[in-house]
Amino acid sequence: MCTCRKDRTIADNSLPGSILPGTTLPGTTHPGNTIPTDALTRATVDLLRDLIRNACVNDGTADSGGEIRSVRTLEGFFAGSGLDLEVVEPHPGRASLITRIRGTDPGAPSLALVGHLDVVPVHEAGWSRDPFAAEIVDGEIWGRGALDMLCLTASYAAVTRAIATGSFRPRGDLVFAAVADEEAGSGLGVEWLTENRLDLIDADFVLTESGGVPVGSTPSISTTIGEKGLAGRRLIVHGTPGHGSAPWGARNAAIIAADAVHRLARYHAPVQITADWRRYVAALDLDPALAARLLDPVRIIDALHELGTLAGFAHASTHTTVSPNVVRAGDKDNVIPALATVTLDIRVLPGIAAADVDAYLREALGELMADVTIEGEGFEAATRSPIDTPLYDALGAAARRAYPNADLLPMLSVGGSDARFYRRRGIPAYGFALLSRRWDYGMFRQLFHGNDERIDVESVSLTVNALDAVVRDLHG
Ligand SMILES: [Zn+2]
Repeated sequence: MCTCRKDRTIADNSLPGSILPGTTLPGTTHPGNTIPTDALTRATVDLLRDLIRNACVNDGTADSGGEIRSVRTLEGFFAGSGLDLEVVEPHPGRASLITRIRGTDPGAPSLALVGHLDVVPVHEAGWSRDPFAAEIVDGEIWGRGALDMLCLTASYAAVTRAIATGSFRPRGDLVFAAVADEEAGSGLGVEWLTENRLDLIDADFVLTESGGVPVGSTPSISTTIGEKGLAGRRLIVHGTPGHGSAPWGARNAAIIAADAVHRLARYHAPVQITADWRRYVAALDLDPALAARLLDPVRIIDALHELGTLAGFAHASTHTTVSPNVVRAGDKDNVIPALATVTLDIRVLPGIAAADVDAYLREALGELMADVTIEGEGFEAATRSPIDTPLYDALGAAARRAYPNADLLPMLSVGGSDARFYRRRGIPAYGFALLSRRWDYGMFRQLFHGNDERIDVESVSLTVNALDAVVRDLHG
């Protein structure tokens, strides 16, 4: 059992057991601590560890990432499988690998398994272990990307190789795509492929990140069916330059920008209680009084803090959010800055248009608008897939092989993923996995892009076997 300091920290920050009955935290004794040894799981775990060690860290610059390392790993993984591998590299080092198993029936729907190879940077000081060593400790594989989303990418590869080398012949095409640059907007990954090599990655149905957390006692398995949209906006703050030795009364752009940031932090866009949010609250098995407050536009803000690690997710699920993430002002020690910029990360719920976003910003900034210009028109609406599809049915059936009474819990992701490039074109895309009972949704979100990211081998096994069942069910 892992009794290290970090695990206790996570347990301390997690939800009280009363909110998510039936779930346990890492480090707790549980029956799944023996490592499953089926061939699919073994192959997936080995590949996952190699992908973590490749450290394809995407810091947002074109020369980071280095996904070519993991493409080379995958070429080795598929050697001898008979698959034709296609590698694209739109920028040196930023490679994606795609392969397609042709179906026996050209009229049958095709399925693409789309996993990214890049990971976000780490804050090394916050980790209890080397984030790129892929150690296995107490049944858990540690490392950046273990959860987001190399466990899935490795599972997709293992399933694809098993189908390619086995006797099962899928009716429809099966596409495996291991892609670059998801963590920086996909301009060198799925977006590039969509614009330049759609023939490689196109399919009728898509699986990608993320999901698989057992929620509540039944349980319901979180399955992403849509995601919030994005608006790119920057505030240009205008002041008056002056000498830094006499600041009193100056129109310092940095001070005006600080005021703007504060106002945005205090501002709440109108509450939207969506059907997705209602379903999620119902699945949590909460105290009825708390559940009622979480569905009440007037009382929800005061109820958020009672959700522990889920509070930010709950807020983002019910509001269009504005986060001032890059703030710049001034360039000389003794000059009062005349200009400041505040770059905003804006995530919009379904039904919100670009004009709504600009109206929210003007409302939040109030009279500061006299000194502020809003720059940028970038806007991507939220995307959502229907759930009355044979793929969604196959996901539910696969989940019930492990959790006999489980239902899928269709969810709206508050972040972005490669699914949006498919959903925009009308192609159903879901985020699916199958995690063990040691997970709850708060911990899942905490480890995504967080310190001490890891996944238990039992969850890897559940996930890869579920995906294998999904492919054989859909294509059988
Ligand atoms: Zn991801």
